[in-house]
Amino acid sequence: MKIEECQSLYDKVMNDLKNAIDKEQFEALSLEGKKISKFLNGYIYVVADDEYSLSRINKFYLSLINGFIKNYTSETILFKFLSVDEMKKIISTEEISPTSVEKNLDEKYRPGNIDATYTFTNFVVGKSNKFAYTYAIQTAENPGKHFNPLYIFGGVGIGKTHLMQAIGNYMLDKDINKKVLYVEAKEFCDDYIHACNQSQSEKQKKIDEFHNRYRDIDVLLVDDIQILCGKDKTQEEFFTLFNFLIDRNKQIVITCDRPSVSLDGMADRLKSRFDQGLTVDISQPELELRLDILKKKIKTLSNKSDLPDEVLNYIASSFTSNIRELEGALKRVFFYSVFNNSPITLDLAKEALASLIKAQKNANKYNTSSQTYENIQSVVSSYYGITVSDLISNKRSAKIALPRHISMYLIKELYDLPYKKIGSLFGGRDHTTVISACEKIENDLKTNNELKMAVDNIKKKLNI
Ligand code: ADP
Ligand code: MG
Repeated sequence: MKIEECQSLYDKVMNDLKNAIDKEQFEALSLEGKKISKFLNGYIYVVADDEYSLSRINKFYLSLINGFIKNYTSETILFKFLSVDEMKKIISTEEISPTSVEKNLDEKYRPGNIDATYTFTNFVVGKSNKFAYTYAIQTAENPGKHFNPLYIFGGVGIGKTHLMQAIGNYMLDKDINKKVLYVEAKEFCDDYIHACNQSQSEKQKKIDEFHNRYRDIDVLLVDDIQILCGKDKTQEEFFTLFNFLIDRNKQIVITCDRPSVSLDGMADRLKSRFDQGLTVDISQPELELRLDILKKKIKTLSNKSDLPDEVLNYIASSFTSNIRELEGALKRVFFYSVFNNSPITLDLAKEALASLIKAQKNANKYNTSSQTYENIQSVVSSYYGITVSDLISNKRSAKIALPRHISMYLIKELYDLPYKKIGSLFGGRDHTTVISACEKIENDLKTNNELKMAVDNIKKKLNI
């Protein structure tokens, strides 16, 4: 496609976007009338005005924008929005791989399943993640060579998925034709079970499709491998896939919430395969890193670039272990200030974060008594004389629905887990179902004494 055609495609797509979203939202992105910067390897590059609009475009609008392209061409082309610095980098590395211009992209491996904002550039480095970061970059530069598999482990919300996807994004930036497949271990498992559950006549075809999907690739990124614990058949399949790829020098990156030795229910031969490459861990983020992350994040949230130090310190010292929560807290302070139309001060931040901090304290208290979500499910089930499998089943009778709703409500209240995650603890229910269950219990508790007594009794059994 010629550059003029790319420009005209951009203008048309922007017109579609303008019609599809709110006028104010559209204008805030400052995309109208922009000149595209480059067409390379199937990507049309456009430089965004600033980090704030760039992050909004990538997070909320990119798939919508790329979806409009189909209205005008059958070629596989995608828009990529980036900062001036990133554009400079592309131009300077272009000499390295100029031959693949206008090669078709393979839909299956589009970075669609990878978040474009999870890059090395956006990853703030500190003492706790430096080791993992260094080896992730080396792996991205020399895939399949030195560290295969690269096994990244660490707690919740500390950047494992970000770092893993940064490897994918880096490789795709260098060569858009690389087949990078990112998959959550849960999805791998579901895919496999789905293929196996077909009727006899369909089964072989589906298994072949499954094999094609996972084998015809250059890089495999498997997130949260601990999900495979206890799933023997899926582990066998993964073992075969693992060997298949490693034998062909295809890079594998794995993340996990714990080191491989602690994976109870994982076959020993798999654990030893995980150890044959390089294991790196990300530990709890230190104060300095938390502050750096907050400072970087502010730039994507607002055009104003600074917050008072005492506010930053307050947030960074209240949210110490989980970067997702740290970022969530910062956003909350911003919204609170906009909503109340008052400047961001320490008092405002304290007010904005009071309920989050309380929920966190509860969760910590709960964690130290080594209780788990499963324990809530089992205490609630036995209180109502049903089994945990009933609780997470599809059964809808009132006898089971009420304890199910109470369990969801308690998990939300005590752990403040994302609704989607809670849904997954209850047989993969949709997050909207969890939201309505939690809202219902919260409302009913105000008027229904019998329910209140039941919930209080359950809490007592849970030692809260
Ligand atoms: P995990 O997979 O370990 O649970 P994620 O990779 O999903 O955690 O990270 C949670 C959030 O924190 C994401 O929004 C991610 O971008 C952000 N994050 C984590 N570590 C960093 C970092 N070092 N620099 C910038 N953002 C980070
Ligand atoms: Mg993750």
